[in-house]
Amino acid sequence: VTARSLGGKEVAAGLRAAASEALSKCRAAGITVRLAIVVATREESAAWYVRSLGAAAARLGIEGDVSELPPDATAADITAVLDALSADAGIAGIVLQTPLPAGIGAAEIASAIDPAKDVDGANPVSLGRLMAGLPGFAPATARAVLELLDYHSVELDGRRAVVVGRSLVVGKPLAMLLLARNATVTVCHSRTPDLADVTSTADVLVVAAGRPGLITARHVRPGAVVVDVGTNTGADGSLVGDVEAASVAAVAGGLSPVPGGVGPVTTARLLLNTVTAAGAVGVEPG
Ligand code: NAD
Repeated sequence: VTARSLGGKEVAAGLRAAASEALSKCRAAGITVRLAIVVATREESAAWYVRSLGAAAARLGIEGDVSELPPDATAADITAVLDALSADAGIAGIVLQTPLPAGIGAAEIASAIDPAKDVDGANPVSLGRLMAGLPGFAPATARAVLELLDYHSVELDGRRAVVVGRSLVVGKPLAMLLLARNATVTVCHSRTPDLADVTSTADVLVVAAGRPGLITARHVRPGAVVVDVGTNTGADGSLVGDVEAASVAAVAGGLSPVPGGVGPVTTARLLLNTVTAAGAVGVEPG
């Protein structure tokens, strides 16, 4: 093994400390910070995520407010809930959990989230602001990858970055964030003919495909930094990433672990965004 481990626990602790400090100021001003989570799926992995986000919020002192809709909820049903939460002065942040019921596009529905409360950067307005380099909330996972790289002093300016995955929650916004940091960015996806041909040019390789074992040693240039965003359930039920850790750690210069890498940073970033939103929108005393 040559790769140093790019762990996320300390990064997350730093973000939680910042959130905690801001939260005590809110408390002193008589403000209760509430995070609304809207769920319209019975998928177990989504339910697990909602529970763990709620628990992390509670540990910090943020109240979780889960709106559960049936898995056959319509676009109009979900929009109505998001509209009500957006108008509710007691709610600081809103997260729309995926997957959504079949046939409903997250980007359209997320338009109903007030951008000032859009702590996971899902509204196309937030995504547009990110692209334009204007202030706003970026998707928490994409932001978390940058925070992990910065914490571990990974240089981005002038480096070749390759992102595997082009989703609106990770791949695309991450490409924009890397570009804003002067990396030369290439985005790969499921229709990229020879993945290894592209990924092996990367100084910094970020993988968010949701395919366990997709990236092996032959995909990685010796010494490259590899960030594994994937969270998949392994054959034995354990949490595994998209990177075959054992073989990649032998060639990479750095590798983020799963679990304990991007995941905890994402949660902490989401909570910090929520406290930030509470300050910005002047949430009424709760
Ligand atoms: P998604 O399914 O929306 O997108 C996957 C992307 O990967 C697509 O753009 C697709 O083109 C690409 N892809 C799929 N197979 C590929 C292949 N064989 N070669 C190249 N590209 C391929 O998924 P997502 O929501 O972007 O999530 C990606 C992964 O990240 C999942 O494992 C998810 O669980 C994980 N995730 C983790 C966090 C976290 O906090 N750690 C947060 C969000 C998502």
